[in-house]
Amino acid sequence: MDEDSDGLTPTEDLAVALARSSALAVFCDFDGTYSVQDVGSTLARKHLGPRRIELWSRYESGELDAWEYNIELFTGFRLPESELRAFLATIDLDPGARVLQAWCADEGASFRILSDGFDYNLNWLQQHNDVQFDFTSNHLEHVGLEGDEWSIAPGGRNPACGCGTGTCKRAIISQYRRDNPGAFCVHVGNGRVSDLCGADEADLAFAKETLADALRERKQAFEPFETLDDVVAKLTSLVADARALRAER
Ligand SMILES: [Mg+2]
Ligand SMILES: [Zn+2]
Repeated sequence: MDEDSDGLTPTEDLAVALARSSALAVFCDFDGTYSVQDVGSTLARKHLGPRRIELWSRYESGELDAWEYNIELFTGFRLPESELRAFLATIDLDPGARVLQAWCADEGASFRILSDGFDYNLNWLQQHNDVQFDFTSNHLEHVGLEGDEWSIAPGGRNPACGCGTGTCKRAIISQYRRDNPGAFCVHVGNGRVSDLCGADEADLAFAKETLADALRERKQAFEPFETLDDVVAKLTSLVADARALRAER
């Protein structure tokens, strides 16, 4: 493979690692990956325009980390629950979302959504779209019926990681490795802020958009994708290669 191309890890090496592994685990980002639109940033753009721009510059200067940015942005955020639900109804799932989950079930691979977004939204979207997945995320709660205020809590901060997010994906994947020694971990994501540490921790990272940019800058190996159908296609061929290697032994 051309060294300057996107997929920097030779497929043969991945197949060898997968052939040696004890299990396959797929970790998938939600916003902009399992779903087409990013729930949090679309909501913020719609309802918190000027504040969002001011806070983003404080984030970029390093004054706020990713979770502190969320706290500043959403604390005291007022929106009727009905309006939030109406907004969530406009969120589309990636065309390959169900395909990827079905593929994991068929292959005996575990599947988990890792999200720096919020459980309220993920629960609602699962029901609305008639899908079911395990997930780890931050917590969002509707408090004060009168004021229509929302309160948030992190899902798993990790001071040892540079991500600064509410739900550190590196910590979740490395804990999974400790619990499942020899597992081959795949991470699928699209965002520089919330997915970089998960991609770093995984044996194989699928990336698009700002996550792909960040990995390219760091000259870190990744597999580019556009939809989750592409992820399924690549995993299918990788699993076939790994099976062939196992059969040779
Ligand atoms: Mg995302
Ligand atoms: Zn992290």
